[in-house]
Amino acid sequence: MVSELISLRRIWKAKQRVAGLVLQTPLIYSDALSKHTGNQVYLKLENHQPTGAFKLRGAANKILSLSKDDQKKGVATFSTGNHGIAVAYVAKQLGIRSIVCISSRVPKGKVNRLKDLGAEVAVVGENQDDAEDYCYRLEKEQGVSVIKPFDDLEVIAGQGTIGIEVLEQCPDIDEIVIPLSGGGLLSGIGYTLKSNDSSIQVTGVSMEKSAVMHESLKQGYPIKIAETPTLADSLLGGIGPDNQYTFQLTKQYMDNSVLISEKAIAEGVLFLLEHHKMAVEGAAGAVIGKLLSEKQKGDGRVIVGVVSGNNIDHETVSELLKTR
Ligand SMILES: *Cc1c(COP(=O)(O)O)cnc(C)c1O
Repeated sequence: MVSELISLRRIWKAKQRVAGLVLQTPLIYSDALSKHTGNQVYLKLENHQPTGAFKLRGAANKILSLSKDDQKKGVATFSTGNHGIAVAYVAKQLGIRSIVCISSRVPKGKVNRLKDLGAEVAVVGENQDDAEDYCYRLEKEQGVSVIKPFDDLEVIAGQGTIGIEVLEQCPDIDEIVIPLSGGGLLSGIGYTLKSNDSSIQVTGVSMEKSAVMHESLKQGYPIKIAETPTLADSLLGGIGPDNQYTFQLTKQYMDNSVLISEKAIAEGVLFLLEHHKMAVEGAAGAVIGKLLSEKQKGDGRVIVGVVSGNNIDHETVSELLKTR
């Protein structure tokens, strides 16, 4: 079983390994969400990480777990989102080479942000698959290590460090609400919390369209779905036909899988803007949208929502504000 490959010791090791690079993020009580829902709602603020998202944890743990020799050869990834940013950031902090492989469709703004972080950007082909193929070619030909965004035990263990912090900060937790895409975040946190107390409820949140993990679990095997534009853009992407870990771990550690409409995601983003003065991205908005949907239905349970990132641009925020 996959869950035998992971262990709490592995998560604690990750916590020690990443301590110099990763912030122990605040857990705040949300008066507004608590009043709205009738539960006691806390928010785990991964948007406070220096890169703006939790992906830093997994990337840092994976890269630091490589041998010094492998680190020197450099690291590569094919993600332009929060994972790509995290890999570039960690590489820069460690003074090693990073290459981000992208397709010609990736917007200039994203490319420049990666370059500013010191990454080499390799533009290859028309789509994400070309970029991914190229990344693995670099691994074969130049000995760089490809850092996967979720389906890797050290990445999962890195994300699991959130679970340890949440238990330290809020040992009374009854339920955690986690945005779900490839499932690295949910696998790590879910494993850590359930291994401490299996009664803690783990809820995964995906957008209604292109909810790949949700649909794959329903089918019983990893499937492909066409991507539809969504405000929760960090939750797009497949889980890989040859998924090794996160499909099984998500299946084992997730109690409820919920889908959230675009409208509810937008309301989630606006709610944090209004009540907490925080600009967060759609993936985090999806979690808030799910919490908001329980209006006055709560029974005082202690619920933690994972605010996973803040990678949202001003234009999107102002578009959202216009809909008010
Ligand atoms: C990657 C990401 C997620 C989803 O994490 P998975 O491990 O792929 O499930 C959620 N929120 C943000 C901001 C992300 O960057």
